Amino acid sequence: MHTCRNCNQSFRTELALELHLDGCEDGQLLCQVCGDRFAEREATRDGWHYACPNADCEGEGLSEDLIDVREVRAATH
Ligand SMILES: [Zn+2]
Ligand SMILES: [Zn+2]
Repeated sequence: MHTCRNCNQSFRTELALELHLDGCEDGQLLCQVCGDRFAEREATRDGWHYACPNADCEGEGLSEDLIDVREVRAATH
């Protein structure tokens, strides 16, 4: 069983999980430093300063280390 760590939905295959991650509402931000995905609300407290929620990762800054996967997709299509 593969579980989305963002919304806790479960999938039978890794592929199904990957497909889900592309549209997962709770995994919109991608940290380019550690490669993790997480919800926007996890990365910010005040809606202004964004930082990777992983304690051992230095990634920070929206559109810098942290990118919105929906914007990336919109830009490449
Ligand atoms: Zn999800
Ligand atoms: Zn990170």
